[in-house]
Amino acid sequence: MIQMSALSYRSRQAKNPIEEEDRVADMLARQGKKVIKLNRGDPAVYFKTPDYVIDAYKRALDSGKTHYTDPVGVPELRQAVADRYKRLYGLETNAGKVIVTQGVSEALLMLNFTLINRGDKGILFRPYYPIYIPYLRIFGGGTVMERYAEGNCWNVDTDSLERSLKKHAKSKRVKYMMITNPNNPTGTVLSRSTLEEVVNLANEYDLLLISDEIYDELVFNKAKFTSICQVAQGISYAILNGASKNFDATGFRLGFILMPGEHKNSEAIREALKRYATMRLSANAPGQYALAEAMNNEKEHKKAIGAMVKELESRVNFTTKRVNESRFMHAVVPKGAFYIFPRVDFSRLALRNDRTFVDELLREEQVQITRGSGFGDEGHVRIVSLAPKEILESAINRIDSFCRRHER
Ligand code: PLP
Repeated sequence: MIQMSALSYRSRQAKNPIEEEDRVADMLARQGKKVIKLNRGDPAVYFKTPDYVIDAYKRALDSGKTHYTDPVGVPELRQAVADRYKRLYGLETNAGKVIVTQGVSEALLMLNFTLINRGDKGILFRPYYPIYIPYLRIFGGGTVMERYAEGNCWNVDTDSLERSLKKHAKSKRVKYMMITNPNNPTGTVLSRSTLEEVVNLANEYDLLLISDEIYDELVFNKAKFTSICQVAQGISYAILNGASKNFDATGFRLGFILMPGEHKNSEAIREALKRYATMRLSANAPGQYALAEAMNNEKEHKKAIGAMVKELESRVNFTTKRVNESRFMHAVVPKGAFYIFPRVDFSRLALRNDRTFVDELLREEQVQITRGSGFGDEGHVRIVSLAPKEILESAINRIDSFCRRHER
């Protein structure tokens, strides 16, 4: 048995609530039970990665693209990213402002490594993507926790944000503010006016704004997505995005940081990120060439993403409707991504909290979802709505019987 003293302090920070019930789920599966797993947001499990992306990957392998690449990414992909932002959002930028990473996950690691000293802080909004927290904490950082307000369709509460910025301004320890748009877990797409207010505040307090836009093309229910690059003139900002969701290629493990700004800090941060990149030599080589091709192949991409978004809209709306028919839960209708984040009415249930809810639901009904407290918002649960409707239907029926059985 390994003694605790053998482990670093930071090793204890490494956790992911989305996976925390996996051991129980595996045990149930070994007992021959059929577990419905609605915990992990992996589109490639349910939507086959498009053929034009797979073919590009095969071509990269066939032409021997199996070597280390430039640590910050192959020029083809960096240029394809710059072109994508020009095409989608009218941004004038160039390949030099792009750093290719091993997923947005590595981008988070690299940014916190680059920015955070012990005692520094990042402003996050709850509910947040859970992995933002451990990547801050392993470098000794802490959070200033703001809210997306459920009563206001999960939009940023800018009044509270302003008060908080005023309070923390003197300490000079706040290094960045991080938003997720479209949001995981709520599916919110932030309005242009909200983004403008956030940008104005970042400007006023001279804060780096990080916008995780990994779901930027997975938008529906008539919503219009605005990228931070369309409103963020003047400030130092970074956009995170990648192959996982828009290109339905989670297993490529590819992402990027785009830092287009000419702000005084941007150049220094980009250079530090590049130095970090040299330590891990390179991201996945064939994947980079494939992603570059896929990004440039507008026609095929439009076809694939169009079909996927249509289906996601239908699955997400189906789950939301079914959930909202229950007297035990209520969810704001999502506008993007593929999650729904209902509030559970615990006053009607003889269950203590969201942790007991998801744990007992898995053991009794074999449906695996994630507790809201894992996203910083107790009293909710997150349901991934990627599976086909028959599976979602069966899961919601099981959740409903579970709630009835535990009704007070
Ligand atoms: N950011 C958000 C908001 C996510 O939801 C996810 C994955 O679900 C990630 C980042 C991780 O992305 P990647 O696969 O690029 O590491």
